[in-house]
Amino acid sequence: KKASIGVTGLAVMGRNLARNLARHGHTVALHNRSEARTRALVDRFGDEGEFIPAYSAQEFVDALERPRQVVIMVKAGAPTDAVIEEFAPLLEPGDVIVDAGNAHFADTRRREASLRERGLHFVGTGVSGGEEGALHGPSIMPGGSPESYASLGPLFEDISAKVDGEACCTHVGADGAGHFVKMVHNGIEYADMQLIAESFDLLRGAGGYSPAEIASVFRTWNTGRLESYLIEITSEVLAHVDPGSGKPFVDVVEDAAEQKGTGRWTVQIGLDLGVPISGIAEAVFARSLSGSTSLRSAARGLGGPSRSPLSGAALDRFADDVEQALYASKVVAYAQGFNQIQAGATEYGWDIDLGRVAAIWRGGCIIRAKFLNDITSAYAAEPALPTLLTSGGFRKAVEDAQDSWRSVISTAVSLGIPTPGFSTALAYYDGLRADRLPAALVQGQRDFFGAHTYRRVDMAGSFHTAWAADGRPESPA
Ligand code: NDP
Repeated sequence: KKASIGVTGLAVMGRNLARNLARHGHTVALHNRSEARTRALVDRFGDEGEFIPAYSAQEFVDALERPRQVVIMVKAGAPTDAVIEEFAPLLEPGDVIVDAGNAHFADTRRREASLRERGLHFVGTGVSGGEEGALHGPSIMPGGSPESYASLGPLFEDISAKVDGEACCTHVGADGAGHFVKMVHNGIEYADMQLIAESFDLLRGAGGYSPAEIASVFRTWNTGRLESYLIEITSEVLAHVDPGSGKPFVDVVEDAAEQKGTGRWTVQIGLDLGVPISGIAEAVFARSLSGSTSLRSAARGLGGPSRSPLSGAALDRFADDVEQALYASKVVAYAQGFNQIQAGATEYGWDIDLGRVAAIWRGGCIIRAKFLNDITSAYAAEPALPTLLTSGGFRKAVEDAQDSWRSVISTAVSLGIPTPGFSTALAYYDGLRADRLPAALVQGQRDFFGAHTYRRVDMAGSFHTAWAADGRPESPA
């Protein structure tokens, strides 16, 4: 019997994906650069399903049914190229190579184009959910050709997370679309985590709540519209007491957040596409600031306001106000992320169904949340929705939240508690809804020093003013 799919690269992610496939009744060929991982998988988990271990590339390829489906799950970057080059010459036209690692979508586009010329399908696929997700059901975001999805889709849908009976897997779009969407997923994850962290900081610094009390606030929020995996784990982290010191866990952890790079990619691409994803950018910068330890120690004595926590009615209301601010800021961060996907789709010619993207993020992945149902509904009601902020439900919720949102940010500013995520979200909201922006002045400045020209509200064409002469507009420039 031959295998319906093969996995090469059997570190935690590949191993768990292979086990997930086998547990669903698929025969899985196994391969890894060093044999030990392959042997270990068969020794420890061989009874979970049908595996065909292979100890050379040729043996692996020979173990596969046609069209062959080879899933690569190795370190992203040069190792992925090396593994592609190892297998591509052994494959035949119509076979499918899947890269399920965290590749940059531009690499995926390059690889897809070059393998297409060789008659092979290349599918860059986002997989979210970490090692547990890979084993029990991740959210899967495959790109590539529709033909490759016809054979691969059923297998991936089978092993993906399920929500309301629907698989958290869909064909996202051509070539790099899957990895692009996975990248934005991670960017949104950064923003969501930052907003939650700011909520904690405010409840503690302005509200005077203890970590254990904040854990219980988050537990309550998790029964409402903010219900999500990230809120759930936040309450667990905050409730955790360090066994050695007896202190709250959050107080014994160094406050320097690390990052592996997908958030940074999201921001870099946001800049390239000209999409203001300020919520994601501030989240990445906030991690960078937290990690600038020597700079922070040099600046530690800089003056700030004297902090006295809230009291009375303001304190009584505060947790509810923060919930509103968190919700509104979260809507903005997601609105920005979905606009980035839309801009990527336009730039690269992908036909991406944004409502489907929200639907497959409801399970398996890190940002899984009830909230995503509302995004799916918003795009179902209006497929060409310009921004989530103007869809009926979100519009009303954010309008209703705005008094609390503004009040929380005012409190933060007056007490000197940094809320880059909340603040940039509100600035974006106010910027979008403004009748007039000071960009008119910026255009004037640009025309003054660089003769960059401007357009007028009352006449067509582009204009330049002779600033050094009589100041009259010369038209057209
Ligand atoms: P690693 O990223 O740690 O990669 C280890 C695997 O890559 C091993 O199988 C290793 O083989 C193989 N490898 C490394 N270099 C080469 C090479 N030059 N040629 C052949 N094989 C090579 O493994 P993970 O399981 O953590 O992640 C796999 C992929 O999944 C990565 O792209 C990662 O970014 C992505 N990912 C990871 C998630 C996570 O939570 N960890 C979540 C989602 C995606 P050997 O055993 O011989 O050293």
